[in-house]
Amino acid sequence: MKNIMQSPVVVIGSGLAGLMTALQLAPLPVLLLTQGKIGQETSSIYAQGGIAAASHEEKDSSAHIEDTLRAGAGLCDQKAVATILDDGRKAIEVLEKYGVIFDHDRHGRPRLGLEGAHSHRRIFHIDGDASGRGIIKVLTEAVLRTPSITVMENTIAVRLLKDKNKIRGVIIQIEGQFRSIVTSTIVLATGGIGGLFEESTNPLQNYGQGLILAADIGAVLADLEFIQFHPTALDANIFPKTLISEAVRGEGAVLVNSDNQRFLANTEGQELASRDVVARAIYHQTIQGKKVYLDARKALGKGFKTRFPTIAQLCHQVGIDPSMDLIPVKPVEHFHMGGIKTNLNGETTIKGLWAVGEVASTGLHGANRLASNSLLEATVMAMRAAKAILDNHPSIQSNDNEIDETGIVISDRLPFVKKIMQKDLNIIRDEDTLRSAIRQFLTLVNEHDDQYVLNPEQIALMIAVSAFLRKESRGAHYRQDYPATLEKANRSFISFDQAYQYAKTL
Ligand SMILES: Cc1cc2nc3c(=O)[nH]c(=O)nc-3n(C[C@H](O)[C@H](O)[C@H](O)COP(=O)(O)OP(=O)(O)OC[C@H]3O[C@@H](n4cnc5c(N)ncnc54)[C@H](O)[C@@H]3O)c2cc1C
Repeated sequence: MKNIMQSPVVVIGSGLAGLMTALQLAPLPVLLLTQGKIGQETSSIYAQGGIAAASHEEKDSSAHIEDTLRAGAGLCDQKAVATILDDGRKAIEVLEKYGVIFDHDRHGRPRLGLEGAHSHRRIFHIDGDASGRGIIKVLTEAVLRTPSITVMENTIAVRLLKDKNKIRGVIIQIEGQFRSIVTSTIVLATGGIGGLFEESTNPLQNYGQGLILAADIGAVLADLEFIQFHPTALDANIFPKTLISEAVRGEGAVLVNSDNQRFLANTEGQELASRDVVARAIYHQTIQGKKVYLDARKALGKGFKTRFPTIAQLCHQVGIDPSMDLIPVKPVEHFHMGGIKTNLNGETTIKGLWAVGEVASTGLHGANRLASNSLLEATVMAMRAAKAILDNHPSIQSNDNEIDETGIVISDRLPFVKKIMQKDLNIIRDEDTLRSAIRQFLTLVNEHDDQYVLNPEQIALMIAVSAFLRKESRGAHYRQDYPATLEKANRSFISFDQAYQYAKTL
């Protein structure tokens, strides 16, 4: 079959990371591939809180760095933290240059939000809680009017091709057909892994394809065991799950169980303790068969609708009036701290393969993400990767005219994998359930030969092995058989082959 295209650079994904990378690469020709419509099937568009950056009121980013290191529970890469956060103001300015308008007060000063574990007000937001939507709208428009960017919507990257350790192309699925693109430079900006779970706040279609594509050609992945669960998603029959923002608890709403007990009353920080602590407390209630509710009746009452109009509207859709009713909540998968290991230019361990945004692991987040640092990381790393790619003068170096796409089949294993991930890789883990998950994933891996692509069991196996090997509890990774945090610990790095070989020994 003939290749349909060639391009010096292919960017995969149209969330904040992908759009920003493509824009920053202009005027270099870029092919931007995205499943679904541009900007739509992204976590970026769901982002509510905003983007964190040290404001003019902070003299520099040192307090932001300190907060990030504390949240990361000893596992952040200090250089990554300093490099990315120091570029915070620059990132805001670049977004503004493309036309993003952050909320301001009547004196023209940025109206900054405060979120859990931030020591200062430093969250830049848009229309209150519509930050991601505002950013994606502006960047999408900018991409569409940039002549050097060709957008291919409804296009799924299904397999990366490499020659020795160097990228030579990508196979895509478009209109039900498999086609190939020859390129020497691919930027993965495919977002998180929420779709690997039965319940997540991420778009359902995003199940870590970027990680699968990279792992499949031998890239090293990092910190895979660290998955953040948001404690208060609305417990209703809505997919993906919708957040009841932390800010509702910030306004005084409390968590109660079905026996009307305020079960966090004696925990340090109470309802505003860190996300992993609150998520575990709720999880404990649910495994005892109790329901958990957010009670905003006293703290906000009739004022709920004014303060949180979007959330109020959402609750109304499922027949709940937060001024009078309890809001049922549960913790669900929300953000992946782990990802494809990159350096601070977004380069992976495969030459010509770059990764930016949530799919990448720069070392910024450590064992737990500080709220609103991910939009910042996506922006800064897109800028840095684009600059480094331009410095490398990418060209089409391959003479391939024929890449064989015959016989390729996209895996249909996702529903099985989701069940196991939801049960065994959830908030609380232990050796027995992890071993059982690994064995099941290994069986699935062994059943599929080379013609299958986007195999979710591949990345699920790597996550489960990483969780099995970390015999401690730290940040978002909690082992009930190893509840203590070790005095000294390192980030984790793993290739698919290493995970596979290890799994076979269990
Ligand atoms: C509900 C919610 C609220 C959040 N709030 C905040 C917040 O306030 N502040 C903050 O900093 N962070 C927040 N986050 C996290 C943040 O939104 C994400 O980490 C960030 O937007 C990720 O951006 P991204 O560009 O890396 O990925 P995404 O925005 O998820 O984009 C991924 C893109 O890749 C495409 N894609 C995936 N696989 C393929 C494939 N195989 N082929 C082609 N295309 C593919 C997708 O369709 C999509 O276009 C929130 C997340 C959620 C879910």
